[in-house]
Amino acid sequence: METSRSLNRDIVWLDLDDTLWDFKANSRVALAGLYADYDLARWFGSADEWIERYERHNHALWDRYNHALITKDELMSSRFRLPLEDVGSPMAAELGARFDGEYLDRLAECTRLVDGAIDLLEWIKSRGMMTGVLSNGFTEVQHRKIRNSGLAPLVDFTVLSDDIGINKPDVRLYRHAEQVAGTTAAQCIMVGDNPDTDIRGAVDAGWKAVLLDRENCGEIPHGVPVAKNLVDVRVFIGEFQDTGAEV
Ligand SMILES: [Mg+2]
Repeated sequence: METSRSLNRDIVWLDLDDTLWDFKANSRVALAGLYADYDLARWFGSADEWIERYERHNHALWDRYNHALITKDELMSSRFRLPLEDVGSPMAAELGARFDGEYLDRLAECTRLVDGAIDLLEWIKSRGMMTGVLSNGFTEVQHRKIRNSGLAPLVDFTVLSDDIGINKPDVRLYRHAEQVAGTTAAQCIMVGDNPDTDIRGAVDAGWKAVLLDRENCGEIPHGVPVAKNLVDVRVFIGEFQDTGAEV
């Protein structure tokens, strides 16, 4: 059983999108593919214009979704239709309905990682700790991303919000992760790029945490250390180990 194997070992949990796997870059590859394959130049001046309009609508819809103003189905059915409506495409409804599934499918095949992702996972394991992915995301898509990008051999546990229908920052997902790995809260460190989900949940769960702030937002939430890149993340994990209880 994994429980006995992992007893008394510390574990670094990492968020997937934009922490290990370069969501922003990969998303743009998938969107540019749709632009080319569906001849969206009929309605947009450039692939960049298409991508910019999509990202703006997607961002606004996610904001509404996170505030429980729309459902996930509404988000997914609107985010491709709206940029096409903006530019007067007569196929907005048809392509909008089709693109969401196709985009997610293309996305799962993209393989670009955040700089230093593999090195960090190898380093964590070389220090005798275990690794986990803790992600809000769709099960099938996230597993494909992990597999296709070469992360899988370096990840001991994968825990997704979909597994139990509860998202970060809800503490219950962190408790579930502890159970899956057979660890306690004191043995868990969270690394993620989102202060409101990854970090807040970890702090609430009594975990140590490191915020990855690649874009230099400058926010220092919840008193946790802030790393500018994945190399710096090692420094903070090392400090947790040196000072650290139960490491
Ligand atoms: Mg993220």
